[in-house]
Amino acid sequence: MDRLQQDIQYIKGIGPARAKRMNRLGLYTLDDLIRFFPRDYEDRRTLKSTSGIGGSEKACIELTVSTQPRLTHVRKGMDLLKFQAVDEAGIVSVTYFNQSWLRNSFAVGESYLFYGEFMRKGNRLEVINPVFEPKKDEGSSLLRIMPVYPLTAGINQSAMRSAVQQALEACKDVFPEPVPHEIRDRYHLAASSFAFANVHFPADEEALSIARRKLIFEEFFTLACAQKMLRGRRNTVSGHRISAAAPETFEDSLPFALTGAQKRVIREAFDDMIHGEHPMNRLVQGDVGSGKTVVAAACCWLAVSSGHQAAVMAPTELLAEQHYRSFRSLLEPFGIRVEKLTGSMTAKEKNAVYDALENGDIGLLVGTHALISDKVRFRSLAFCVVDEQHRFGVLQRAALAKKGEEPHLMVMSATPIPRTLSLIIYGDLDISVIDELPPGRQAVDTYSVKEKMRPRIEAFARKQVEEGHQVYWVCPAVEENEEIPNLRSAEQTAEDLRTRAFPDLRVELLHGKMKAADKDAVMRRFADGSADILVSTTVVEVGVDVPNAVLMVVENADRFGLSQLHQLRGRVGRGKSMSYCVLFDAGESDVSAERLSVMCRTNDGFQIAETDLKLRGPGDFLGSRQHGLPELKIADLAEDMDVLRSAGEAAQNVLKNDAQLELPEHSELKARVARIIEGFRGGMN
Ligand code: ADP
Ligand code: MG
Repeated sequence: MDRLQQDIQYIKGIGPARAKRMNRLGLYTLDDLIRFFPRDYEDRRTLKSTSGIGGSEKACIELTVSTQPRLTHVRKGMDLLKFQAVDEAGIVSVTYFNQSWLRNSFAVGESYLFYGEFMRKGNRLEVINPVFEPKKDEGSSLLRIMPVYPLTAGINQSAMRSAVQQALEACKDVFPEPVPHEIRDRYHLAASSFAFANVHFPADEEALSIARRKLIFEEFFTLACAQKMLRGRRNTVSGHRISAAAPETFEDSLPFALTGAQKRVIREAFDDMIHGEHPMNRLVQGDVGSGKTVVAAACCWLAVSSGHQAAVMAPTELLAEQHYRSFRSLLEPFGIRVEKLTGSMTAKEKNAVYDALENGDIGLLVGTHALISDKVRFRSLAFCVVDEQHRFGVLQRAALAKKGEEPHLMVMSATPIPRTLSLIIYGDLDISVIDELPPGRQAVDTYSVKEKMRPRIEAFARKQVEEGHQVYWVCPAVEENEEIPNLRSAEQTAEDLRTRAFPDLRVELLHGKMKAADKDAVMRRFADGSADILVSTTVVEVGVDVPNAVLMVVENADRFGLSQLHQLRGRVGRGKSMSYCVLFDAGESDVSAERLSVMCRTNDGFQIAETDLKLRGPGDFLGSRQHGLPELKIADLAEDMDVLRSAGEAAQNVLKNDAQLELPEHSELKARVARIIEGFRGGMN
């Protein structure tokens, strides 16, 4: 059996109960354990003397036990083991809580190494629960850099270290090595055996840095290979024949003039579709309200005018309906039949669509993921659009594309992602950016406020409603949570607003735990103006247009990522009236205040994303849910950009010579890549 895939219960000390706890950390196999990278390290290499400790400090000190250890039973469940130990410069009181079995581990007059948090109390030191080992002459396992792992209830640091240590030992002859030899040579990368051993138990700083570099490279490299292989599959066949057509013909039919950015992106896409050797695979990124829909419509028009069909897939029924209306008004003037397909339609309605689609009567089909169901057959699907791409996985995209013979694909996203990151997140796509808003758009006036402003904010909200407008009220969670006492939940806030602040207004509640049909009904009532205030979680983030909503209030705004706040704020400022966003800041720190002040200063999504990346790191952008990507375990995208670049380049080179990874020297790489693609599949729901 594959040693790496062996269950963690193989490890001494891990039985069924502990295994369950380990599972909570995502640890199931030995392979998981050796890839469970430390979150930090403790440097225990230098021995200190008691005289070197001033206040409170983690240190390793050699001490001689000077009093007999005394065990006292304080109360049920609370034992204390206490003794004194000395070096030539001072006295230390050593205490162990609930570790009575250590009573016989210490002998008066013997020396031991102790590692722990030493605290000065007057002229003596105290230390609680230090790790220790008898003094040996050399090679002490205490005097080294020790890993610090993320933990879960019931698994302490030393249990985790021992588990990882055993896993390393068990796998030492079979460490996975997906990076081919020649690539390791070219980029001066350490072998796996060195990398795994030293990332956990580094010999010194240099060894740690070499180990990390190898593993980061490996992480990017395998990910890049996976993405390129998915793309490579599409590149093998060229797309449908699209006849050249002048974009002006479409553009002249519009009720408004396109922005320069919209025109540029339309031309980039037309160029791909008309002249490209391969099917288009393009991401269109544009801030909320930048006008992505009409860009997609232009491409639909091109595909259908060439005698083919097009499809638009949106993440929710409501959004699909809104798109259905927009695309109809944009394309029907050209005699193109636009239909919709969503899960809530009756079987009869659906069948009518299936038939008209198969015989080619329908030019454009707009819908939800109902589009990828088996019954949907196009006569000649040449162009697909996936909107709000981060709500779909890589493979759903691929599933839609399979409805045609290598159709052209456009994915649209309003999540502003710094260029440096889009490289890895969208490695398999070309990117167009709509970096200009239609003229006359107003910036949303944004304020960050503290709790004491609440009465004034409520009065302001009432005023907006009295003037005939509507209000979004966003909360970070659905329900109350005892562990985070100051968190305002949507349920609690809706209740509070209904009973206390606005008993005379129509307050609705919307959150992700509701049934899809209920969510739709609430959103519909808000969209048609039969609700004044919509209390919700971040589910409103996805783009439904309610131009009459002019105020957004966000509770616990300090708990959101800036990009997410920006995305939320995009729900207002869609009509002619002045719009506002109020961010309740319950945070205590300066960083939280600084972050929110960025929101007040600018409406530029890309600038906000860059700041967020700097202040919070890339975690936010790379949540595996968001992008259908596996979480990066070790790499820090902000810091490791150089490695990222070389890894991408290396992946390109390997695949150029062995597109399907069939050479024997690539077998481990192939297995790893298959696993990553499998992970994409996991992110599909
Ligand atoms: P998003 O990029 O967020 O999907 P939409 O495509 O929904 O934006 O466009 C937002 C609104 O702006 C729509 O009502 C659309 O008709 C309008 N719009 C798009 N382009 C222009 C333009 N060039 N001039 C004026 N209005 C535009
Ligand atoms: Mg949109």
